[in-house]
Amino acid sequence: MDRLVIISNRVAPVTEGKSQAGGLAVAILEALRRQGGIWFGWNGEMIEEEQTDPGPTITESEQITYATMPLKRRDLEEYYNGYANATLWPLLHYRLDLANFDNATYEGYRRVNALFADRLSPMLRDKDLVWVHDYHLIPLGSELRQRGCRQRIGFFLHTPWPSSEMWQALPAHAELVRALCAYDLVGFHTADDLNCFAQCVTNTGAGAVEVMEDGVSLRIVTPERVVTGRVFPISIDTAHLETLARQAARSSHTRRLRDSLVGRSLIIGVDRLDYSKGLPQRFNAFQELLERYPQNQSRVSFLQIAPPSRSDVTEYQQIRRELETMAGHINGHYAEFDWVPIRYLNKSFGRRTLAGFYRHARVGLVTPLRDGMNLVAKEYVACQNPEDPGVLVLSRFAGAAREMDGALIVNPYDTAEVAENLQRALHMGLEERLERHATMIAQLRRYDITRWREDFVAALEGGNAGNAGAESLPSIDFPRQFA
Ligand code: UDP
Repeated sequence: MDRLVIISNRVAPVTEGKSQAGGLAVAILEALRRQGGIWFGWNGEMIEEEQTDPGPTITESEQITYATMPLKRRDLEEYYNGYANATLWPLLHYRLDLANFDNATYEGYRRVNALFADRLSPMLRDKDLVWVHDYHLIPLGSELRQRGCRQRIGFFLHTPWPSSEMWQALPAHAELVRALCAYDLVGFHTADDLNCFAQCVTNTGAGAVEVMEDGVSLRIVTPERVVTGRVFPISIDTAHLETLARQAARSSHTRRLRDSLVGRSLIIGVDRLDYSKGLPQRFNAFQELLERYPQNQSRVSFLQIAPPSRSDVTEYQQIRRELETMAGHINGHYAEFDWVPIRYLNKSFGRRTLAGFYRHARVGLVTPLRDGMNLVAKEYVACQNPEDPGVLVLSRFAGAAREMDGALIVNPYDTAEVAENLQRALHMGLEERLERHATMIAQLRRYDITRWREDFVAALEGGNAGNAGAESLPSIDFPRQFA
């Protein structure tokens, strides 16, 4: 088996226990343990400008080589807080109004990608399969090519790809599309993302786009190479979560939550504190539920878990203040001496605890304004009791809505529609809940995180690119111009 080399902005600490690590870290670790290889990236530490860059630190454990390096203060500010999180992230999530366009941060972004390529290229062997993750590292493939790397290199984008109109607002839009054409394989969560990317390839003249026979891939022909563009909807460790949730139903955390509710129904939301997650709109929708259907007052509690993220970026400080004000206002207005409508928590919980909370919640409320996939939606479904499942209320703008067709699909901007669907979910009969849950859990068992990873690696290896797992993917309507 060829060695796998995975590059992501942040390498999850080696000591992180499996039940704490996020879905992606678990998938990467599993792939590397099975196949052997390198995980390369930032170690989460910052060094000052005057300190000498020590280069990657190499550690080995269970067939995996971790090659991690610190970043300098200025590099982090420009590459990570700047271009990645204050330019690309908002733009990829359709928030042009929040995107900063600044040449200095773009230069920092290019500089760190070049630095990663400098450090990584001497470590590569001829037959390695190289897999680059996410928007922080779009130019890495072309930087590696410039250093003579001829290996098969794939890229997976964990966010949405926006419409070409939106993407063109970025000064470096054409350059970054051309950079993506330096990979052999480019993967997206949904057909919409892939189609939007293909439109950008066509508009910038980076390549000619054709639909492949499998119906889930595009072939992009550029002067240098043929790039495969394909849909790989990321998934979860379904079997493991089902087991965790069964066990967690009896855990002390779940018991404390259940006791505190004294028979009230629970709606749960779990999101990083991020403006893309639609949290202010969600709070408004919950308030609307209490207003329009007052029988829910004192009978329904809404638990919103929202651990802070990227707190160095101004917009994240603003959304945090906004939500604190909203939760305070709604609770101040509706609370009773023995009932608080919104339990709003700015801290994170481990997977085991979350599994028990999901299982106990009658409704999973997942309403991002834009989301590449949204793993919480899938996790909520996997953690339900199959004999008495709760209901998923899901934004049409989450990638997960393409597969989770048993959910109540809503427009997160339409607070009245969300309130109506919350009411419907809270009162849905067992038969309908069973039917909706069965279709979703079947898809999650068929297409889990292992399948996602195997599918990508098989496509990267070439040969059967495009066929592995294609039958379990939703069919794709490619626009006629590519056919
Ligand atoms: N998560 C967690 N603890 C928390 C909140 C979130 O472990 O307190 C996990 C959650 O279970 C999910 C991931 O973080 O696996 C969030 O992934 P998602 O795709 O929903 O959103 P992202 O944060 O990647 O935008």
